[in-house]
Amino acid sequence: MGAATETFYSVIRRQGITRRSFHKFCSLTATSLGLGPLAASRIANALETKPRVPVIWMHGLECTCCSESFIRSAHPLVKDAVLSMISLDYDDTIMAAAGHQAEAILEETRAKHKGQYILAVEGNPPLNEGGMFCIDGGKPFVEKLKMMAEDAMAIIAWGACASWGCVQAAKPNPTQATPIDKVITNKPIIKVPGCPRSPK
Ligand code: SF4
Repeated sequence: MGAATETFYSVIRRQGITRRSFHKFCSLTATSLGLGPLAASRIANALETKPRVPVIWMHGLECTCCSESFIRSAHPLVKDAVLSMISLDYDDTIMAAAGHQAEAILEETRAKHKGQYILAVEGNPPLNEGGMFCIDGGKPFVEKLKMMAEDAMAIIAWGACASWGCVQAAKPNPTQATPIDKVITNKPIIKVPGCPRSPK
C-alpha cells in the first residue's frame, strides 16, 4: 500500500517514466480534454505537487467477488491503479497488515487526512441485533463504517451489495442487511452497482 504523501509525479519517476514522457502525457491530457494552452503546465504542476488521494477500502457483508473482479482488471491493470493513480492505504482483504497494525492505519488516516480521503465500501452493514452479524476489528461493521464515513471527503459504494443490498437483503433479510446510503446520510455517495462490479 502506498504512502499518501507521495505525488503522482514521484511515483511515475520511480517507475522509470522520463520527465519528457511525463510532459507529453500532460500535453496529451490537456489536448484531449480540449483545454487551453496553459492547461498542460497546470496539469503538470498539480501532478508534481499534490499528493495522491488516500483511499480506504472497507468490506461488510458480501462475497468479495467485487474485489476479485477489481484485482483481475486489465484496463487499467490493478498494479497501475494501486501503485500510481491512488494511494490505497487500507484494504482489509488484500493488505499485508492485520489486527492492531491494520486498525492503526484507519486511525492514522483519520488524523492526517481528515476530510481528504475517499472511502470505498464493498458489502453492506447488517443492522439486526446491534450489527452482530458482521464483526470487523472487534466491533460491528456498521460502527466502523460510520466512524470512517465521518471524516471522508466522499464515499463510493462499490458493487450491488453496498449500493442496493443485493442477495443478503432479499426477503426475509434476517440480518437486516442495509445499503450504505440508508446508514450514511450526510456525505456524497457515488453508487457503482454491479454483481460483480466491472473495474472498467
Ligand atoms: S455485489 Fe455481488 S459480486 Fe460484489 S460482493 Fe456483492 S454479491 Fe459479491
